[in-house]
Amino acid sequence: MDEPVLLSMLEHYAFCPRQCALIHIEQVWDENLYTLKGTMTHERVDEVGSSQRDSLHVERALPLWNERLGLSGKADVVEFHAGVPYPVEYKSGRMREGVSESIQLCAQALCLEEMFDKAVPEGALYWIASRKRIAVTIDEALRTQTLEIIDEVRTMMQTRKVPSAIADKRCTHCSLLSSCMPKLPDQLKGYLDDDSTA
Ligand code: SF4
Repeated sequence: MDEPVLLSMLEHYAFCPRQCALIHIEQVWDENLYTLKGTMTHERVDEVGSSQRDSLHVERALPLWNERLGLSGKADVVEFHAGVPYPVEYKSGRMREGVSESIQLCAQALCLEEMFDKAVPEGALYWIASRKRIAVTIDEALRTQTLEIIDEVRTMMQTRKVPSAIADKRCTHCSLLSSCMPKLPDQLKGYLDDDSTA
């Protein structure tokens, strides 16, 4: 049986496959302003608990899994709208149009569908710095893209191969910029790695 694919891996991979590999294969983690903000955000929403306001039931830090797809992780918040699960993922930064967050949300929806045997047609991303909540439709296109990424992450974890750097504008705000060195040719990175262990 394969190791489960963590929901957080999907967001990392959708943002940059190399970032996902550096974190989950090479165990690289550079703490910086972005990661600290993310950690503080999740400390606030990671307290397990449930609440009821009028007809709205809310679960916090809910463990998630999908046995068929081999997924596991946790949802920041799951609201239950007339009994239908509605995942809400909290993000520390300002609102942006990235698809990686939607992929992670869709994977949460796939878990909730199997766990509660109910269709999950929508979820939301909440951007804390912008105080904006945007609804995300869990449509066929997003589901297909998410399933493809789950397969790609599983393959990458099995082969343990770290992809090459993308070296584009995504690198500017990447928490792993100093470890990744995206502008260095791969050959030179290999030489430096060998040299540092000599
Ligand atoms: S610095 Fe760029 S290439 Fe390297 S992990 Fe980050 S986004 Fe990917």
